[in-house]
Amino acid sequence: MFTPGLRSELQRIALLAVLLVAAGYFNGYSLLTLIAGGSLYMLWTLHRIHRLNRWLALGGRDFPPPASGVWGEVSDHLYRLRQRNTRHRQDHLNLLARIRRITDALDEGIVILDADRALEWWNPAAAKLLSLQRGDEGAPIINLVRAPAFVAFIRAGLFTEPVELEAPSDPNLVLQFSANHFGNNEVALVVQDISRLRHLEQMRKEFVANISHELRTPLTVLTGYLETLGDSDAEVPASWRQALGQMSEQTRRLTLLTEDLVTLSQLESTALPARTEPVPLKPLLGGIVENARALGGSAHHLELDCPDALIAQGAARELHSAFANLVYNAVKHNPQGCTIRVRAGSDNGRVWVEVTDNGVGIDARHLPRLTERFYRVEGSRASASGGTGLGLAIVKHSLLRNGGHLEIRSTPGKGSTFRCAFEPVPTRC
Ligand code: ADP
Repeated sequence: MFTPGLRSELQRIALLAVLLVAAGYFNGYSLLTLIAGGSLYMLWTLHRIHRLNRWLALGGRDFPPPASGVWGEVSDHLYRLRQRNTRHRQDHLNLLARIRRITDALDEGIVILDADRALEWWNPAAAKLLSLQRGDEGAPIINLVRAPAFVAFIRAGLFTEPVELEAPSDPNLVLQFSANHFGNNEVALVVQDISRLRHLEQMRKEFVANISHELRTPLTVLTGYLETLGDSDAEVPASWRQALGQMSEQTRRLTLLTEDLVTLSQLESTALPARTEPVPLKPLLGGIVENARALGGSAHHLELDCPDALIAQGAARELHSAFANLVYNAVKHNPQGCTIRVRAGSDNGRVWVEVTDNGVGIDARHLPRLTERFYRVEGSRASASGGTGLGLAIVKHSLLRNGGHLEIRSTPGKGSTFRCAFEPVPTRC
């Protein structure tokens, strides 16, 4: 129970008491001798405390003053605690220096913003990409990067999607900003130079656009000759007729593919349409439903339910392309006799268009990938129907360009719903 220091201290007090009692006995002043001895012991103890306190006040450097008994033990404990703290502090400093070396080596810029979205800290890459200077510390980030998209990104503070913009100092650089909240409402902003990626993407778009454009002319010539040969059926030897039929079919598929590729490239490569053109939806959807009936949809029950005055904002040609793809898909991918419902409406200024069928449906595992280019559900009627696998990619891009997005719900064996939901159009002041 007693520590060695406390034990020796108590022994010392006991010995002192015995000596004082003996001295008092011999000199005849027992009480006075006891008081004098006790006071001396207290003074000596105060002296030891004072030395320890001074050592602590001077930062506890080097070794503590030599002491014995319980105060010696206290000094030892304090010394060991100090040693441990020094080691931990050094470890933290080493870790901090290492983190700094890592962030210095990164190509990505990292900027730490405080709760007021003012600059707190940044690494050298961020300084280079955003042209930040030493004196910018404490300045609001939106005073330094003033692009409206970035200002909206910081003000909204959601940071769900990254934002892309030209570098403030060099319009040839494309920067991507992503951010995350941390700590006490602070924000870690990551800036990446994605110019090379965008350049490669641009090259891919141009390549696909050029090649699909170049394919159009030879395909038109081929189709023309095949049609002429098909018209002069009697002159074509019987052994060639099947081959000609297959050539016509494959040329037709290639033409459809080329047209879809051209449409997709145009959607990707042209500037966003200003959403100012009012598009009356009833005649637009009515025309699509009529076309679908003419293109073989008469084997299905096609229904249209759209308020007469419903208006969407966007590029009419692109909206037509999106809705038509959905309706033709419902016809193409479902067996005869299915009901296909095209409905449209608006909730709180948000226009929506839905194409619902009670056909084959799509397994849930395919849904997230349906809008990828060339993705088709294996074993579906798609190959028989001659689809290109680009239809839903066209729908997705057309909608995104016109302030909308696609939602897909489907149950195998019961049917599918493809819903185009549009953001309300901001009112101009
Ligand atoms: P495709 O040219 O094959 O129609 P899409 O991108 O338009 O390509 O569609 C991708 C796949 O989604 C189709 O191959 C088909 O399997 C499936 N799909 C699309 N719409 C429907 C639908 N209404 N019912 C069932 N399956 C569908």
